[in-house]
Amino acid sequence: MALDFTLAAFEDFCQWLTHMPVFTVGDYLARSQPPPTPFVILRIDVDYRETTAVHMARMAERHNLEASFYFRHREGAFDLDAMKAIAQLNHEVGYHFETLDTCQGDFQAASDLFLEHVTLLRESGLIIRTVAGHGAPPVAVNYRSNLDLLIHTPGLCERANLLGESTLSIDFSRVAYISDAGWRWRRYNYYRPGVVGKPTSLHATIRDLPRRDAGLYINFHPHQWFAHPATMLYYRVRNRLGTLILPHVRRGSLPKT
Ligand SMILES: [Zn+2]
Repeated sequence: MALDFTLAAFEDFCQWLTHMPVFTVGDYLARSQPPPTPFVILRIDVDYRETTAVHMARMAERHNLEASFYFRHREGAFDLDAMKAIAQLNHEVGYHFETLDTCQGDFQAASDLFLEHVTLLRESGLIIRTVAGHGAPPVAVNYRSNLDLLIHTPGLCERANLLGESTLSIDFSRVAYISDAGWRWRRYNYYRPGVVGKPTSLHATIRDLPRRDAGLYINFHPHQWFAHPATMLYYRVRNRLGTLILPHVRRGSLPKT
């Protein structure tokens, strides 16, 4: 099998999914009954490197797969060209929201901005049915994650005319959640925000695809996936060193040079 976090490995993975029932988050939430196992929910959180997301969307489409791609409002804009290109390939596009971070914990301002962004996307011609909270460290002490916006603002999803949120609306007793966040594959047999999952790999996930005890809900982050193994290794090692060094920088314990 191709090296993990290369686009060749993603293509291999799509090949394995070809003969399975695969759902977008929106299609899964729209069902009145959960599908029979085995099945897969395919989600792609586009934190950045939108071009890679378009490549992955094309690969998935070549294997007749539909996934949910969530986009951030980043540097003052959505990448509408990438979103439209992906929507044209029959994928779901959704809003990867982080308005509590943007509004520094001001819930009212964050709700207004959330509604504004959903409207903006729809006015651009995109169908927005679901949203996904972006997981970054909170920037104020009055909330734990961007998901708190929906947890503590009852009715916001309904006001935005959404089917739901990509984790809050899922019954995790029926699906195991597997994510590549932070360049580490982790499996959560019962996902809850803030709980760390067990280490796993793409290879182990492929082995588990036919299991009938639960559906698999798999989340990819395109900015971690590269065409060339050497480029991927460079960025992955750089990321590892960053996560090792960053806590020391925050504590100010690194020697000044
Ligand atoms: Zn994210």
